[in-house]
Amino acid sequence: MVRPVKVLILTFLGLLLISDASFAETNITSLIQRVGGELLWDPVLERGIVNRGRRSVTFQVGIPFFLKDFSEVTDIEAPRRREDGSVVVSDEAAKSFISLFALDQPQDSFLISTIIIDPGHGGKDPGTIGTHSIDGKRLSLEEKHLVLQISQMVVDQLKETFPDKNIIMTRRDDRYLALEERTALANAVELGEQEAMIFMSIHANASLNRKASGFEVWYLPPEYRREILNPEELDQEQKTIAPILNSILEEEFTVESILLAKEILDGMESSIGTVSGNRGLKEESWFVVRNAKMPSVLVEIGFVTNPEEAQLLNEQTHLKKISSGIYNGLVAYIRNFEKSD
Ligand SMILES: [Zn+2]
Repeated sequence: MVRPVKVLILTFLGLLLISDASFAETNITSLIQRVGGELLWDPVLERGIVNRGRRSVTFQVGIPFFLKDFSEVTDIEAPRRREDGSVVVSDEAAKSFISLFALDQPQDSFLISTIIIDPGHGGKDPGTIGTHSIDGKRLSLEEKHLVLQISQMVVDQLKETFPDKNIIMTRRDDRYLALEERTALANAVELGEQEAMIFMSIHANASLNRKASGFEVWYLPPEYRREILNPEELDQEQKTIAPILNSILEEEFTVESILLAKEILDGMESSIGTVSGNRGLKEESWFVVRNAKMPSVLVEIGFVTNPEEAQLLNEQTHLKKISSGIYNGLVAYIRNFEKSD
């Protein structure tokens, strides 16, 4: 079980209206259609991330640059919002937008080199405990044992599919690990330029309400800041945009964590959705991971305090189904992440 601090539902809405481009300006919506991209739109910041394959271009109303692949800045005249609600860019900016998506550009290919599976709790910390009396028999479940079994099943499947990847469990037996020890393990992994890693924590849930049941997946936004431009090389204008760049970079990995969380949730829906409720995606902000290239999620496999779910969680076949759902979600995410167009 995790302590919810903040639940924030991010909605990216493509709200841009199509309207006729006037002289020397181009509607961003038509540009996105031209390059065949998909838009993630943040209506609060008026910021868009256009994705096609692994290529992305970020823009923001009032901000004078495009950011390619969260790393490369192209100066432009700032996009502006017209009275009819549409967002337009200068024709010159439109040309650079299209060139950023040009097919003849070498496409960076990224690789998930490391997967860290973190069974929650352990040792002196049993996690949540469910105790039930069912047909006169006592059933007692401890979170630390359930999540270790499932983690081991997921790891076994992953190792078979990805013999070349570094697959790590934070604990392989019933031992206590502090939160800092778990994240330190992740932060110690060295990644190459084009490499990324996945961090997944597995837990079981509990509630005073014995009727509460079902699975859910939390995505863990990284709480870190990094400079993509060397501060010494920044001119005055770049210094003013540096905080915006940094906030976009934080978003990059949140987006990846959300994509990963969705794949896991879909995988679990397919494998146990008929017997256990889907409680959806949640955002967790207390869990600090510092590594930039690390989409991170936390899976809650079900409630040990619910009598029906406890009986399911007591069956190996159900644990196997949960692990398959998680595994399938991971594989779908990895295949998509490593696919270049
Ligand atoms: Zn837990």
